[in-house]
Amino acid sequence: MTTTIPCPICGKPAEDPKYKPFCCGRCADVDLHRWLGGVYRIETNEPGEETEQ
Ligand SMILES: [Zn+2]
Repeated sequence: MTTTIPCPICGKPAEDPKYKPFCCGRCADVDLHRWLGGVYRIETNEPGEETEQ
């Protein structure tokens, strides 16, 4: 019996044992960069957040 763990990055079934627990090398790379880069800085342009002078 094989248990398929969903990829933590995209949620697809990680069927390839080569890239476990990720589904592909791309997702493994994304996770790697998260660790290396610390925190992903996502710029959010929320209305009301602007500071005009
Ligand atoms: Zn994935």
